[in-house]
Amino acid sequence: MPSPVRVTFLGGLGQIGRNCAAIETEGRIVVLDCGQMFAGDDLPGVDAVLPNLDWLIENGDRIEACIATHAHEDHIGALPYLMRHLSFPIYGSPFTLGLVRHKLKEAGLVDRAELRVVHDGDRLDVGPFDCEFIPVTHSIPSGNITAFHTGQGVILHSSDFKLDLTPVDGRRTDLARIGSLGHSPGIRLMLADSTNADRPGTSNSERSVGSVLTAIMRENEGRRMIIGSFASHIHRLQQIADAAVTTGRVVVTLGLSMRRNVKLARELDVLRIPDHAIRDVEDIDDLDPARTCVVCTGSQGEPRAALTQMALGTSRWLKLGSNDTVVFSSHPIPGNEAAVASVRNGLARLGARVIHSSQVDVHTSGHGKQQELRTLHSVAVPEFFVPVHGEYEHLVAHKELAHGMGMDVDHVMLCEDGDRIELGDDGLVRLDSVGGDHIYVDGTVGDLGTTVLGDRRTLGDDGFVAVVVHVDLDRGEIIAGPDVVSRGWVEQPALRAHEAAVADAVERELNGAFDDAKIDLQGLAQRVRRAAGRTVNDRTRRRPMIVPVVREG
Ligand SMILES: [Zn+2]
Ligand SMILES: [Zn+2]
Repeated sequence: MPSPVRVTFLGGLGQIGRNCAAIETEGRIVVLDCGQMFAGDDLPGVDAVLPNLDWLIENGDRIEACIATHAHEDHIGALPYLMRHLSFPIYGSPFTLGLVRHKLKEAGLVDRAELRVVHDGDRLDVGPFDCEFIPVTHSIPSGNITAFHTGQGVILHSSDFKLDLTPVDGRRTDLARIGSLGHSPGIRLMLADSTNADRPGTSNSERSVGSVLTAIMRENEGRRMIIGSFASHIHRLQQIADAAVTTGRVVVTLGLSMRRNVKLARELDVLRIPDHAIRDVEDIDDLDPARTCVVCTGSQGEPRAALTQMALGTSRWLKLGSNDTVVFSSHPIPGNEAAVASVRNGLARLGARVIHSSQVDVHTSGHGKQQELRTLHSVAVPEFFVPVHGEYEHLVAHKELAHGMGMDVDHVMLCEDGDRIELGDDGLVRLDSVGGDHIYVDGTVGDLGTTVLGDRRTLGDDGFVAVVVHVDLDRGEIIAGPDVVSRGWVEQPALRAHEAAVADAVERELNGAFDDAKIDLQGLAQRVRRAAGRTVNDRTRRRPMIVPVVREG
């Protein structure tokens, strides 16, 4: 009897980001992607949100390898955090591994992983699995669908995918191969991208963006062009470069990630720009502004990115004005809308002309919409299906889409982060959950908990009031203080009177508290907190964090 295959979802099901799963048979594990999620404004000071790496670290001795489906941060961004604890080979396309190598190198961990290149159509053993790598179209080059040929049949993971019939590099999602697997031996279980499962229709071909960009550059003849895009979106960069060259401009890369990715992509021949048509921003003073097209990051309003600095007027390289046209060649990711709007407003204030994706089609999604998902389902005809890669509502939409395609209700399983499933002779069953907790990273330490985050929110929203007092417990008296220090609570000059009132209230409270012979420092601190909190509330109706510091001597 063939061994069952288990899948443990460690991230990416319920929120977009931090995609990670463990595929396991006979006790040996292959990790499928290991991404991070970017933290929003609701997580102050958090650099990254990681999948449940604790489970992987606990099971580290059983991990044989990792497959990186493509090089987006939500698929490879947590690898450095995991490789700090473990060492195993990583499989991926040359471009994917190029970016993985850079990531590990930056973290000083490049020796911990042997990087094993796979090419389109390759079929090879990865740990306990016979894996096949099938080309897929997405908003980054050289992504792979993975087919795990197992004793329990084929498990197909779609990776992030769209069906673009005219992709910029001509590398289409290999539907024919998926159809052939669906026919024989059949696909037992499919895990597929749900990002756009609630969007009707079909995503535009990436190529359609090229003609729009060319038209914009023609209309803006004589003006400097600045185009914001993702540094990893090499096909978009290809089209920006083609449009620039067609309209007699030189492409100027601005920003480290842009320069690095362009270099890697040109070396691997996934990006073609003639040498004479590309320069780095360091040469910008030698170039005629009307004949340049700057490509840079910051189209998501990221605080440190190039476009944001231009909008603030703090860019080292470019001062924008009325002869500049800025194109946002992207959609704001949900959560980034306000930051993007503020960058656009900043640019407009400087006099620049701003063009974005709500006005013209200067962007298209890298994720298939409903008609593309239906096409995938109709050629793969999986026996079982689990929607992955999406917020909860996307997973539900994808589940309903599968029902609409005729799949039985009990053959579609809705899973969330932490869920484990097992594919065996009797079908697909749900096992226990390993927990889907977020791991928050600030700096290099991944131990931020809800307490610290709650404190940060309070501090950010309401400030703090600290009361410092030195006491002699034996004699039952105050030796020094109470001194009140606050930040972010009340403006001067009213502050002084409020602080004095808090100090008075605390002093009265303490003098009463010493009557209790058994009182200790902790008890005193509680009374200080209560008295200070009451006074703060009575006088200002504000709720700063109250920090009592009671010391002996
Ligand atoms: Zn992706
Ligand atoms: Zn993704």
